[in-house]
Amino acid sequence: MVDITENLQRVRELMAESAVKSGRSPEDIELVAVSKGRSPELIARALQAGQKTFGENRAQELRDKVGKIDGDIEWHFIGHLQTNKVNMVVGNVSLIHSIDSERLARAVARRATHLGIRQDVLLQVNVSGEESKYGVESDEVSRLVEAAMDEPQLRVRGLMTIAPVIVNIEESRPYFRRLRELRDDLAERFPKTDVSRLSMGMSQDYRIAIEEGANMVRVGTAIFSE
Ligand SMILES: *Cc1c(COP(=O)(O)O)cnc(C)c1O
Repeated sequence: MVDITENLQRVRELMAESAVKSGRSPEDIELVAVSKGRSPELIARALQAGQKTFGENRAQELRDKVGKIDGDIEWHFIGHLQTNKVNMVVGNVSLIHSIDSERLARAVARRATHLGIRQDVLLQVNVSGEESKYGVESDEVSRLVEAAMDEPQLRVRGLMTIAPVIVNIEESRPYFRRLRELRDDLAERFPKTDVSRLSMGMSQDYRIAIEEGANMVRVGTAIFSE
């Protein structure tokens, strides 16, 4: 049986090492346990081991899981979100990592208005420019920030990216650095908007992402697999 407690402990230790290496405190970096495809039983075990925030990447799966697990749990949505599925997500999660178009921003805002809530969001950026990747291109991010700022029900908190799949994990470093630089540019251009969150890094590369400034990592396999 997978020892989730031990896995979590190891991930947290390595996160702390990288935090210190980048001159930050371990508490400044949030771990999102990616629970897609994992059963409510496994998630409950992670929750018991002290993990509070979980990320799902499918709207339907998220909707079905919310409410199946008791306890002090917080959900994030991290996958590509189609506008016709926003109702399954908005209101069920404390953060959506994957706003990648003005159309989606508007759809999320509309649903949030209907529910009478404010929805925290990250803007997803395709820093590698790969065609297969979701996310806006780097030079379109400021337009998306402006569009989101026009929606009072949306609260922008930062940026998210998925690095390309590569063989040598060191090669992902420049992509993470690029997202941090983009964030720093936006922070200057939009001083009234909070773009402080940087969601980047997964099981294979979260340590490098933290070294490059990530303050939110999305880790699934390293927690839920042996
Ligand atoms: C699956 C997924 C992750 C986690 O990937 P692991 O390699 O299992 O850690 C992170 N982010 C997104 C967007 C994902 O879909």
